[in-house]
Amino acid sequence: MENNFDKLKLIIDALNDAILSHHEWTGNLIAVRFLNENSTTSIIDEDAHKKCKTSALLDKIGEETFFSETALLKNVKQAHKDMHDKARILVHSYHSQEINDDTLHVYIQAQQEFVARVELLKNKLSTLINTSDPLTGLPTRPSLQLQISDIVKSKPDDLYLVVIDIDHFKIVNDTYGHNAGDETLRNLSLTLQSKIRSTEKLYRYGGEEFVMLIYADNLSSAGYAGSRICRNISETKLKYHNQFIEVTATIGIAKYKYDLSFEDNFEIADQALYYGKSTGRNRCIIDDGLSHFINYSSIE
Ligand code: GH3
Ligand code: MG
Ligand code: MG
Repeated sequence: MENNFDKLKLIIDALNDAILSHHEWTGNLIAVRFLNENSTTSIIDEDAHKKCKTSALLDKIGEETFFSETALLKNVKQAHKDMHDKARILVHSYHSQEINDDTLHVYIQAQQEFVARVELLKNKLSTLINTSDPLTGLPTRPSLQLQISDIVKSKPDDLYLVVIDIDHFKIVNDTYGHNAGDETLRNLSLTLQSKIRSTEKLYRYGGEEFVMLIYADNLSSAGYAGSRICRNISETKLKYHNQFIEVTATIGIAKYKYDLSFEDNFEIADQALYYGKSTGRNRCIIDDGLSHFINYSSIE
C-alpha cells in the first residue's frame, strides 16, 4: 500500500509530465499554423481543460488528506483552464486568418503562468516530502516542531501531548530481522492512523517512537484515549512470512502547558513514559500536572 511519501513522489512526477505535455502544445499549435494540420478537436473543444488528464491529477491532489494548500491549487486550476482557453482562441484565429501578435503573445503568457503555478505547487509538495518519513509516510519531528508553533498561537486548552514508544523493539529486530522490524513500524503507523480523529496529528518522532497531538475534555478522557491506543497496539498482529509479530507500547501523556517550551512539554510526557517503562511497560501513564503519574491502563 502506498504511503503519503510514495504518493507525493508520484504526484510530483505527474506534475513534471504535465509541464512537459503542455510545452508540447506549443509544438501542436505550430503544426496547426504552418503545416495546416486539422487535428485540432482536442484544442478547440470548449471543455478541453476538463478532458486534459492534468485536470484529474489536480482534483486528486485536492482530495489528499496531507494537502491543505487549497488557494494554491485553485490558482493552478485557473491557470490551466486559462491556458486551454487561450489555445482555443489562437486556433480559431488561425482558421479565420485573423491572427495577430497579441493572440499568440497572450497564449504564450498563459502557458508560462501555468508552468510557474505548477512549479509553486511542486515546491509545496517537495517541502512535505522533505518532512515525511519514507518508511511510514508520517510527518517527522521537524514538521511537529513547525506545526506546534502554529497551534501554540491559538492556545487550545484541551491539547495533550502523547509520546508512544514500542516496548523491547530491539528484540523484534533481533528475533525476526530488520526488515520485519520495518514492516512492524509501517503496520503500527497504519493502526495508529486509523484510530485518530481528523483534527488530531500523528508523527514519527524517531526510531520506534511516535508522537500524537490529541484533544480531550479532561485528564481522564486523555488517559482513556491513551490506554485505548495501548490496547489497539497490543491487539494488532502482523503476519510476516508465516509468523505473527506482536508488539506492545508504553505511552506517556501530558497536558500541553503554554508557558513551557515544546521541549519542556515533551520532557514531562517522556518522564511519564519512562515511569511506565520502569513499572512494567504496555501501559499508559499520564502526568496529572503536579508531577504525579497515573496509570490509566489499570484504572479501566
Ligand atoms: P524499550 O522497551 O526500553 O523501549 O526497549 P527497546 O528495545 O524498544 O529500546 P531501544 O532504545 O534499546 O531499542 C530501539 C530499537 O529500535 C533499536 C533500533 O535498532 C530499533 N529501530 C529504530 N528505528 C528503526 C527502524 O526504522 N527500523 C527497524 N527495523 N528498527 C528500528
Ligand atoms: Mg525508544
Ligand atoms: Mg522502545
